[in-house]
Amino acid sequence: MCGIVGYVGARQATPLLVGGLRKLEYRGYDSAGVSVWSNGASRVVRCRGKLANLEDKLTKEPAPGTIGIGHTRWATHGRPSDENAHPHKVGSISVIHNGIIENHLALRQELAAAGAKFSSETDTELFAHLIDRVVRSGVKDLTTAVRTALAKVHGAYAFVVMDDDDPTKLVAAKNASPMVIGLGDGENFIASDVTAILAETRKI
Ligand code: GLU
Repeated sequence: MCGIVGYVGARQATPLLVGGLRKLEYRGYDSAGVSVWSNGASRVVRCRGKLANLEDKLTKEPAPGTIGIGHTRWATHGRPSDENAHPHKVGSISVIHNGIIENHLALRQELAAAGAKFSSETDTELFAHLIDRVVRSGVKDLTTAVRTALAKVHGAYAFVVMDDDDPTKLVAAKNASPMVIGLGDGENFIASDVTAILAETRKI
């Protein structure tokens, strides 16, 4: 179980996300990534290895924008690789996740039978597909869509979800995995550990 950081506000998200993830480095991780929204769509930048690799990649492929999510991964399902690094994006939905989806095999079979094409070996990607399917069935409210998809998921998890089509908020869900929300002035943070956001706010 590794690191989660999210930001919604007026500042550039990427430096805050990477800065927060750096504070969580002590926990260990095998890959890192961000998804940041601007101008109608989010850009996912992620890679295997250290945060320094991600920062290098971000200088070549900048991810500007004032809402975003960042993750450091400790692989449980699928080897450490660029493709398995979070965030996982399906349609308009970006997801980061700490923990394990216990019923991932059944979900993968069900989604495959319904025509889903997978781009990773992770349990996490399945949740992005579940939300995407709910959204495409006509549920436009992200909180409702996440809640509906969650009803199919068993396990210990902390998820943060961002939707390209509603870039005003992040939706989070947790069960038995830690997550904290940090309140700022005209901005808010979310993280798997208070250490990640203490430099930005003390209102947790
Ligand atoms: N189970 C997920 C994966 O393997 C999340 C691992 C984590 O908590 O970092 O990608």
